[in-house]
Amino acid sequence: MDSARDKLTKIIIEAETLCQLDYVDPKSYECWGCGIDMVPRSWKKENKMRANFAKHPNQSHAKDCDADAEEKIVEQGLGKKQSIRSILEKTPGLSPSSLVLIEHREHIGTSSDLNNKTTRSFDNSDKQNKVLNTDVDKKSRRPANTIRPICRAFINFPYDRNMSLSIPGIEGDNYIKIFKKLSHKKIEKYAEKKIFYSSLLLWEKINYNDNLLIIPLTAGIWINNKPDCTYKIKIDWSAWSKAKKTRLLNEIELAQQDARQLKKEGNTKEYTWIFFIGEQDKDNFDTFHVNDNRLICSIIGHIIYPEF
Ligand SMILES: [Zn+2]
Repeated sequence: MDSARDKLTKIIIEAETLCQLDYVDPKSYECWGCGIDMVPRSWKKENKMRANFAKHPNQSHAKDCDADAEEKIVEQGLGKKQSIRSILEKTPGLSPSSLVLIEHREHIGTSSDLNNKTTRSFDNSDKQNKVLNTDVDKKSRRPANTIRPICRAFINFPYDRNMSLSIPGIEGDNYIKIFKKLSHKKIEKYAEKKIFYSSLLLWEKINYNDNLLIIPLTAGIWINNKPDCTYKIKIDWSAWSKAKKTRLLNEIELAQQDARQLKKEGNTKEYTWIFFIGEQDKDNFDTFHVNDNRLICSIIGHIIYPEF
């Protein structure tokens, strides 16, 4: 599963956010639908697999577990054929209603602090956390704390992109208005901030140093089937911990490998998409700046654009 609840703070978190913590207690997470233990997997920075949560093999979700039900809804893929709005309205995690960034702190203490649970995970005195907590109790759509579940909903439920969505700093009140694919014909200046997306450029090496990571995208100008001037994302990660840097770099490099493999297999539908919220450079319109790792993610999938 992609999310679980912290037993102590009662906050639901995305598996990917674990990668921002320097210490993760494997025993401190539970299913947000039915409360069984969930074990974080692949969250360590050196892991090449994507982070997720798994139940113990000898345990099962409760019969009416919403978290389990959500996973099945996505697996069945009905949302890619028709609107499943009535289901999405009642399931908390599938189609987030908004983005709420939780201010977390990384563990920086000594090992003796590891038992001090207040430094282990999120600081739950934050007002926004309370918003998240109250939403957990209701059977309604809840906010997301990274853009990833929002982007997954965009891919998984193409017939329900008119569902409400609110993102601080972005104009628009639903998925259709908030997402924007970068142009494949020209380099242009975008007047409004959006969740922009493009597929990842496959054959270009990902360049980085201590201060900067550059992610090349396919959107932009191509001449004779070669990228001439294409968009790129520059991430100033000079203030990030080593763990956070390694994790994002791994994710992007893994995404690039996966995309090459798909292409080799002749898969022409699924691409590796990069979604992000960033600032377009004032002088070089082909460049976007992103500084927060919660505002960028890669997802493999087939993006459908239904005709209504
Ligand atoms: Zn469950």
